[in-house]
Amino acid sequence: MIKVDENDPVGEVQLSFPYRDVQIKRGLDPKEEYDLQEELGRGKFGIVYRCTEKTSNLCLAAKYITCPKKEDRRNVEREVDIMRSLQHPRLIQLYDAFENGKVMCVILELIEGGELFERVIDDDFILTEKSCTIFMRQICEGVDFIHKQRILHLDMKPENILCLTKTGNRIKIIDFGLARRFDPDKKLQVLFGTPEFVAPEVVNYDAIGYGTDMWSVGVICYVLLSGLSPFMGATDPQTMANVTIAKYDFDDEAFNEISDTAKDFIRKLLLKDMTTRMTAQQALHHPWLSDVVVPEMELDRTNLKKYVIRRRWRKAINTIIALKRMGAEIDTNLI
Ligand code: AMP
Repeated sequence: MIKVDENDPVGEVQLSFPYRDVQIKRGLDPKEEYDLQEELGRGKFGIVYRCTEKTSNLCLAAKYITCPKKEDRRNVEREVDIMRSLQHPRLIQLYDAFENGKVMCVILELIEGGELFERVIDDDFILTEKSCTIFMRQICEGVDFIHKQRILHLDMKPENILCLTKTGNRIKIIDFGLARRFDPDKKLQVLFGTPEFVAPEVVNYDAIGYGTDMWSVGVICYVLLSGLSPFMGATDPQTMANVTIAKYDFDDEAFNEISDTAKDFIRKLLLKDMTTRMTAQQALHHPWLSDVVVPEMELDRTNLKKYVIRRRWRKAINTIIALKRMGAEIDTNLI
């Protein structure tokens, strides 16, 4: 039985490589420098493989993205540019980048512990409210750093929180594919994200800001504690309708055992008005993450297990759709 280590991580784990000033290598096949191994996962835009750098034997992750259009290439260039500004222990680190015809490849630090939600539903794992604070604190630390660099992540969701190892309690935020540089003096609007986790201002195509990520942090926290998704409807449009009115509650019995401090933490994030939500810095100073004694009783994970299984199904369906799309566009000899 693995009870998550409920002590806050002390010190930082040494990164497997020092900071690198990555420039995109053009017209070069990553296979010249890296050996590709098994697939690690798939996102909306790419496939991630384990790989080894030939000269150093360093184990890394290679994210391949097909870029049939100029715009797709520009998106990956933006992701690389943003990642260059994000050197922090809670954030995935960039190692190398390639453009090879219609395929772009980003080489990343390898994170071996798998997705946070997959890990916490494991039968060998005991989840407590206290352990949730350990994860949420690290998420807020990562988001705080991103925001201090004037960047918005814009795709905060459970799949983008990975565990560093299979047994430790450290996490990292991944996937800066939708991230944007943000100038608070300029209006920024976006129309993307995952309906379950996007903020009302995204659904309404209003101005977004740092609070947009904090809404998603609030949804992640709600799901982690209860296994229930606060705005989930039967269809995506229904989910988005629920988000726009920002109506949710803690009525389900799954919340009976959850402390009022935890609920207050979520309440201060899931506010319709973006400007009234806690910032990442304020979240870190909220009593739930800073000083209050948090219950160490084991949480019932029945809902969370069902939630993760539903997401696995969704992912499988998305993979089939992505494969179909790529089948038409990708030359498998390129990978
Ligand atoms: P992404 O397209 O960046 O969202 O990645 C898709 C999936 O690949 C993620 O949900 C992870 O399961 C996996 N993944 C992405 N990056 C890494 C990494 N650096 N190390 C290990 N697995 C990863």
